[in-house]
Amino acid sequence: MKYAVPPPPSYTLMIAGSDEIFPVNRVFCVGRNYAAHAREMGKDPDREPPFFFMKPACAVVSVGAQGVDIPYPPMTGNFHHEIELVVTIGKGGKNIPEAQALEYVHGYAVGLDMTRRDLQLDARDKGRPWEFGKSFAGSAPIGSVHTAASVGHLSSASISLTVNDQPRQSSDISKLIWSVAESIAYLSRYETLEPGDIIMTGTPEGVNAVVAGDVMRGHIDGLSDITVRVVEGKHDGGAHG
Ligand code: MN
Repeated sequence: MKYAVPPPPSYTLMIAGSDEIFPVNRVFCVGRNYAAHAREMGKDPDREPPFFFMKPACAVVSVGAQGVDIPYPPMTGNFHHEIELVVTIGKGGKNIPEAQALEYVHGYAVGLDMTRRDLQLDARDKGRPWEFGKSFAGSAPIGSVHTAASVGHLSSASISLTVNDQPRQSSDISKLIWSVAESIAYLSRYETLEPGDIIMTGTPEGVNAVVAGDVMRGHIDGLSDITVRVVEGKHDGGAHG
């Protein structure tokens, strides 16, 4: 058989200390998973069960040691950073008990859930889907994956983001409302997880806008830092066309 049109490329992440690469399947993102961020988004963190949204595999941009350039996206004037702990899934399963959930983790990485905040909030306020705000191509720069076999499981670690060397976000992953194990257990009741899936676990407080020329540096203790530079986008139309 022959493809009628060119097949989509596969999207991959580098694995620290290895020649192997991680193939990206689906990207599940946890919303409002730090109380202080839920509050800054105008929501009550105490009353909400976890919820998830998704990004396509083409959202993922692998960030190497030299960092990466991402274009300022079209159709927004409020492009926000969200620094997040990223979990890569190593084996499939459904209805996974919380006590076994970490066995499904392949590894961890530092990532950014880049967000067209104006589009997201407009959709939210109208009860519409978030895709245009959250799920655009290139919206998830992610650094090298550190396998759980090499770094263990992270339950407490400093997470931070600077923009042009100024602190913007700073917290600890111990403040996750829904832990990695709880998130996997909950998600696997709704979707059968597959190897290659990724979970972005949510961002702490301090989200804010970046513009072309800004340099973001993301850090989580024990993982590889990421450097992501915003460059002028080449688009037709949009506030920053
Ligand atoms: Mn997020």
